[in-house]
Amino acid sequence: MGGFLITRQTPRAQPAWNASASKNVVRRDQHSGETPKISGGMEMKDVNCGYCQGGELLAKFGIKICDLDVSQLILFKEQSKPGRCIVAYKDHVSEIVNISDEERNRFFADVTRAARAIHAAFAPDKLNYGAYGDTGCHLHMHLVPKYKGQDEWGGVFQMNPDKKYLSEAEYEEMIEKIRKCL
Ligand SMILES: [Zn+2]
Repeated sequence: MGGFLITRQTPRAQPAWNASASKNVVRRDQHSGETPKISGGMEMKDVNCGYCQGGELLAKFGIKICDLDVSQLILFKEQSKPGRCIVAYKDHVSEIVNISDEERNRFFADVTRAARAIHAAFAPDKLNYGAYGDTGCHLHMHLVPKYKGQDEWGGVFQMNPDKKYLSEAEYEEMIEKIRKCL
């Protein structure tokens, strides 16, 4: 026996999410002076991530409805499919395999709770689920209601069809409808 040198595997020098994020010039920590928390601790946050930071980064595409058990529920601003939401995991982790079985089960329980609320509030004919992360690697799932004969029925949904946005009052009304069904 012997001869093997066991070394701890070090993180990749340039994770994919960091490589793409570095193209984004806006680094919120430069404005706030906060120390970015990216990895290594209990709390994993990325300074360029809308799910981690909320605020204007999130406002580009979504409105937070509420926190769920291990995630946050977000209304997707593009509403060509009424009731479209995102369930985003609480931490900035890229992959479903990066969290424990227990956390994964709780995450899927949150997804299911959100799905039930969307079914109850909007009665879609089908609810589609999409988990990607090509432009921002924060574990999240798109919940996309589909309606017979309406937008993209019978086909795969576009990430952002950029067709329909609502007024603030209409967003509020939609959020209230979802909240009541959670
Ligand atoms: Zn994040």
